[in-house]
Amino acid sequence: FLSDKSAKVFVAGHRGLVGSAIVRKLQSLGFANLVLRTHSELDLTRQADVESFFAAEKPDFVILAAAKVGGIHANNTYPADFIAINLQIQTNVIDSAYKHGVKKLLFLGSSCIYPKLAPQPIPEDALLTGPLEPTNEWYAVAKIAGIKMCQGYRIQYSWDAISGMPTNLYGPNDNFHPENSHVLPALMRRFHEAKVNGDKEVVVWGTGSPLREFLHVDDLADAVVFMMEEYSGLEHLNVGSGKEVTIKELAELVKEVVGFEGELVWDSSKPDGTPRKLMDSSKLLGMGWKPKVSLREGLVDTYKWYTANAITKQ
Ligand code: GDP
Repeated sequence: FLSDKSAKVFVAGHRGLVGSAIVRKLQSLGFANLVLRTHSELDLTRQADVESFFAAEKPDFVILAAAKVGGIHANNTYPADFIAINLQIQTNVIDSAYKHGVKKLLFLGSSCIYPKLAPQPIPEDALLTGPLEPTNEWYAVAKIAGIKMCQGYRIQYSWDAISGMPTNLYGPNDNFHPENSHVLPALMRRFHEAKVNGDKEVVVWGTGSPLREFLHVDDLADAVVFMMEEYSGLEHLNVGSGKEVTIKELAELVKEVVGFEGELVWDSSKPDGTPRKLMDSSKLLGMGWKPKVSLREGLVDTYKWYTANAITKQ
């Protein structure tokens, strides 16, 4: 992959948190032939449009970072969208990529593919060993189908499709919606607005006791390039930082980075979700990849981006 920087690389979902980080990484490495389409230029849920796009562009490589994503509230509220849109996008892109001669495709999923009560840290082979976390099972089932589709195409057609399952991600271009986003951007925005308005309290959902692992999206982008270069296997690979914090610790850290000086109020009527979700990323680490950004550095970087960019857009 790295030997030909003039290869055509289609990054699906290039405006999102993950896709935009991958584009920055590929550009910094000298890739000069990226193929990018906004949602309004190409709707990936429309099979015929995806088919004509691949027929016309014939990309050499595909990184599939386009997905309908959201936090615990969005997953609970829009289950039909989460399963249908994700199945459509990934089925259309994976199948068209295969049919139109793409050399290698990388599919991205999420740690929520694993059973709610999987052993911790979660190894890749915990997949399909138990019931899923009910708050996001529609999204999870779609992502599991994506992994299986890559495996099926590898087995039947010897086609080089691989899957990476990142832990909870954050960074520039995240979704900072107050209800529908993930915990980290939601808290960053809430603390920021409370600081600006001079509020005394900020409400945080749940009990604060769940444990979550966070990875800066630039580290994921680095892992994506690493996998495109080094890995061609049947099994999906976990991509995590190996570092966990409780939601309470996260909230305290975001509060400090933002500079909010009031109190936290816990709303235990909101769901906690899965109690713990730490990935076992030893396979990828064993191949030589390493995360570089600490949570504190990553939060500082994300807050800088948020204050410079996000506020004006919302
Ligand atoms: P999850 O990792 O799939 O459960 O997704 P989230 O990032 O949405 O939630 C992680 C944890 O953070 C859950 O225990 C939530 O209850 C908790 N949390 C606390 N405050 C918030 C908030 O404002 N938004 C979200 N999305 N989660 C919050």
